[in-house]
Amino acid sequence: MRFAVLAATGNFLLFFADNIANQIRTGRRRLSPQARTFAASADDREPRHRCRVCGKTELSDPKADFRYCSKCAGNQCYCGDHIFNHEHVLADEESKRSA
Ligand SMILES: [Zn+2]
Ligand SMILES: [Zn+2]
Repeated sequence: MRFAVLAATGNFLLFFADNIANQIRTGRRRLSPQARTFAASADDREPRHRCRVCGKTELSDPKADFRYCSKCAGNQCYCGDHIFNHEHVLADEESKRSA
């Protein structure tokens, strides 16, 4: 009697363990391509350089040349058209903006 119950419980547990293992395996397989796509699209949406004057990014304008102005407060990025043609950001202006 006890053996039968143990055997039944054992089968029951094995069945569930198999099911759970399958779910985890298929679940992972289903999730990983999505996660990869999401990470890739998040990368695409976030440009590393953006011109402070015209808002041009290396994504909207891959041929544009982006530079950081040494005379501006903070790390201000400008495209090739505006790097020598912008009003420099002053230190107190920048601190007011971030405060
Ligand atoms: Zn620009
Ligand atoms: Zn500047």
